[in-house]
Amino acid sequence: MATAEILVVVGDITELEVDAIVNAANSALRGGGGVDGAIHRAAGPELARAGARLAPCATGDAKATPAFDLDPPIRHVIHTVGPVWDGGDAGEPELLASCYRRSLEVADSLGARTVAFPAISTGIYGYPPALAAEVAVRTIRSTATDVARVLLVAFDDRTAALLRTASASDG
Ligand code: ADP
Repeated sequence: MATAEILVVVGDITELEVDAIVNAANSALRGGGGVDGAIHRAAGPELARAGARLAPCATGDAKATPAFDLDPPIRHVIHTVGPVWDGGDAGEPELLASCYRRSLEVADSLGARTVAFPAISTGIYGYPPALAAEVAVRTIRSTATDVARVLLVAFDDRTAALLRTASASDG
């Protein structure tokens, strides 16, 4: 195993050409707002039914479903539950790192070679985007995986700039 190449892209995660997309889900895996809502709308109602069968998903863990009506080549949705930001001393960095690590482990178990991640926890869950970008890059760089390429997907230009800064650093 090696480590994945990281690319930062701007756009809608449901429209990317990857084997698997990661969903910033909630523990019930039935859909919600933000990127979760966008993925459920694109995948269709089967996704919530499949999620409900796998629920609950603990914070920091990840579980996979098929991609249902999402366009090929997307074949899998990896649902991970990010931490809700509570000041930073409640284990949030470790839990967020666990989301990235566990999602890559699940991607390996599925044989996925290209995986797209949203900026987990940085929307409704309130994690400061600059800190989250550092955790994302650091964790992906330190996780051995057969995933060849990780796309870090920003939905806005500010998040894109933060992800680019984090991925341009050596640390
Ligand atoms: P969380 O509940 O984990 O904070 P959110 O969905 O509220 O998750 O936000 C996570 C990130 O996903 C935010 O940066 C948000 O702008 C982004 N986002 C929302 N919709 C999409 C989408 N369709 N594709 C990619 N990223 C998205």
